[in-house]
Amino acid sequence: MKDENFAGNSKTAIDFLGNKWNYECMGCAISNKQITIPGGIIYEGKHTLLGADPEIPIPGFLIVNVKRHINSFAQLSKEERYEVADVIFYAEKALKELNITNEVTLVQEERSKHLHIWIFPNYDWMTEKFGKGIKYLRDISEYAQKNANERKIKEVLEVIEQVKDYFKDLGFLK
Ligand SMILES: [Zn+2]
Repeated sequence: MKDENFAGNSKTAIDFLGNKWNYECMGCAISNKQITIPGGIIYEGKHTLLGADPEIPIPGFLIVNVKRHINSFAQLSKEERYEVADVIFYAEKALKELNITNEVTLVQEERSKHLHIWIFPNYDWMTEKFGKGIKYLRDISEYAQKNANERKIKEVLEVIEQVKDYFKDLGFLK
């Protein structure tokens, strides 16, 4: 895959609810609320947004999107990186305490022009069908997209609501 078509570097996308988006930068469009991601924003901090991956319908597949248009952890301010760490911490804790998954993989690739971190959950079906490890995440994502149906999308949206409630209960929302 060419870098310009990679993870938000393209100018268009179709989310898993079938909505088509046009944007200059997907990360900025999410930050500026130009586009509404499926299930809505789970948590909004001063510097970050937490939501479900808009294109891949896997329950508990979450994205931490940094609001500022930067593409590297090395460009984060101290305040931003503290918030990123906090959001990842609570998102992972939510997925585990809500028994959505007991293992996640974090991914951040600087070839994406806007900094975002994948929190990718592991499920038994993934290991059984593809194997375990970072090299299978693309195949798993494609499979989830191709095999999406109403029931699976409903499950994804339900998990989003559960994680939203978890964050609300934490009480540190602005
Ligand atoms: Zn951007």
